[in-house]
Parts: sequence; C-alpha cells; structure tokens
Amino acid sequence: MTEKYVKVLVLGSGPAGLSAALYAARAELEPIVLTGMQLGGQAALTHTIENYPGFPEGVGGPQLGELFQKQAEHFGAKVEFDMANEVDLSQRPYTVKTDSGEYKADTLIVTTGANPTHLEIPNEVELTGRGVSYCATCDGWFFKDKKVVVVGGGDSAFEEALFITRYASSVTLIHRREEFRAGAILQKRAKEHPKMNFILDTVVTDLTGTDKLESLKLKNIKTGAESVFETDGLFIFIGHIPNSQMFKGQLEMSDLGYIIVNDKMETNMPGVYAAGEIADPHFRQVVTSAGMGAAAAIQATRFLEEEESK
Ligand code: NAP
Repeated sequence: MTEKYVKVLVLGSGPAGLSAALYAARAELEPIVLTGMQLGGQAALTHTIENYPGFPEGVGGPQLGELFQKQAEHFGAKVEFDMANEVDLSQRPYTVKTDSGEYKADTLIVTTGANPTHLEIPNEVELTGRGVSYCATCDGWFFKDKKVVVVGGGDSAFEEALFITRYASSVTLIHRREEFRAGAILQKRAKEHPKMNFILDTVVTDLTGTDKLESLKLKNIKTGAESVFETDGLFIFIGHIPNSQMFKGQLEMSDLGYIIVNDKMETNMPGVYAAGEIADPHFRQVVTSAGMGAAAAIQATRFLEEEESK
C-alpha cells in the first residue's frame, strides 16, 4: 500500500477538478488529481459542447477533457487513475484512502460531481446495458436504425435526444408534463427534427424484456390511461444525484446531498473546498464548474500561503 503526501489533492477530473489542478499547478503546489471513474467527468460523456467559450464551432466532450488535462499537466499537475473511497477529515493533513493506497493532503478540493438519477421503476436495473442507458455518447451507436425513447424534459434530454437522431430511426421524447425546462434553441431544434416525436403528460411505469428491452408501460398522468410502447432503447435523462456519500457527517451538505460552500468555495472544514456539480445544484455548466474549480484552487493557495507565513 503506497502512501503519498501532497499539498493539494483534487478529487475528480471533470472541468472543476482539472481547472483546480491547472491553477494549483501554476501556483507550484504540485497537485495530484484522482480521476475517479471517468476522466473528464460527465462533460466527457457529452458528444458536443456548444456553450464553452472559445470554441465557436463546439468541441467534443472527451476532447475538451483531454485539453483540460494536458494544460494542467503542462504546469506540473499529476493525474492519477485512481478512485477515492474513504476520507478522514478529523485531523490535518487529511487522509484519503483510494483503490491503490493512501494520500495525506494539506488541502482537498472536492469535485466528485454527480451521477444520473434513475427512474426507479421495475426492471430498470436489470435492463441497463440491454436497451436502457444513461449516456447517449456511450451507447447511441448501438441503436442504429432502431426505435429509441428518451425520458426527461430538461436540456440534457433534448441535447441527447438530438444526438441520438444521428443513429436511431426515430426518437420519442416522453415527458411527465406539458412544458419543458430545456432552453428555447434546443426545443426548437428538436420540434423541427423529422425523426423526433413527443409524448407529454406521461410517465414510464414498467419495462418489459428479458435479454433486452422490448417495450415500456406508459401512463398518462392527466387521464390515467395506460398503454404499451414498443422500443429498442430507453435513454433516461432526468437529473443527477451528487456523489457526496463519502463526506456524510464530515462536510455540511444540503438535504439533496450537495456540499455547501461559501463564495470562496470553502466548506465547513479548513482547507477543504468543493467545486462543480457536487456543490452546484443551480448552474451545472462546464464553464461554471471550471470557474468554481479555479476559485477553489486560488483560495487553497491563499490558505496555504497564510499558514506558511504564520
Ligand atoms: P433538469 O434540468 O433537472 O431536468 C430534469 C428533467 O427530468 C425535468 O424535465 C424533470 O421533469 C424530469 N424528471 C425528473 N425526475 C423525473 C422522474 N422521476 N420521472 C420523469 N421525469 C423526471 O436536468 P438536466 O436536463 O440533466 O439538466 C441539469 C442542468 O444542467 C440544468 O441546469 C441544465 O440547464 C444544465 N444542462 C445544460 C446543457 C446546455 O446548456 N447545453 C446541457 C445539459 C444540461 P419536470 O420538468 O417535470 O421537473
């Protein structure tokens, strides 16, 4: 079991984590980034990001993640393909146990992001990877010329549904209300797309299929009418749950599990910062996450400088 000491340990490698690493590296703090499950975070699962400034034609999610990583490494950050499993914030330096060993860190920047919310209906877990998916970029290709359903009414559902139209023969978006949360541009694009259809005021209540998804049971929530909808694929984009379980009882968090930070990205523990979607139930944009990560690293730098000058 290896033990490493580091001044700044960044948990998570999405836009917040890699931006924090860039700033901490430029402050010559030699940060280490533990990537977690997915290098680049959720942004790396997005096919094209059209609203990150500086890329007028849009940029691939994985490509943007690689660029963030390259830039952070260029200034001396180390990116480790490792997963934090346990933290002990009872004394400094803080301890983080990972798949491969243990880290002692003077400061921690938590950017562990969030995971997709499940519908929590019968057979959802059993059929995941057999027609049910939470990632269009990962699985869209498997649905070439197939019928696909997307559930959700936010930006994610619209953006991903439009992406799946590249492959699928038809994409039906099912939403539990009549109005959508998605932005106007995405809504317009989807409504004008010849492959897209909409079923509103409707929820999916059950899934059928053994080896692979065959059909969905639908219920209209206004009329109560039930129906069966045959489909090859079901993509679920109904929001996210923050990955904060590891910090329960150690960091203050909201009822929904978002870590509470002040305007300097400080948590309730000295030298522990949180940035990106783990601390942001409101904006969840690549650009806002990157900004929060940078702010957290600037504050960690000031904190360490103040400590050293004491
Ligand atoms: P979201 O905006 O929270 O939307 C979640 C959608 O899922 C809502 O339409 C909600 O319905 C529906 N929903 C929630 N629970 C459900 C359930 N149990 N059954 C059926 N439907 C359910 O989530 P998001 O689309 O993932 O977006 C998250 C944030 O990221 C937002 O701030 C969004 O603007 C941002 N984002 C931005 C972009 C972009 O700018 N290009 C892309 C992706 C995401 P109700 O509307 O009825 O609540």
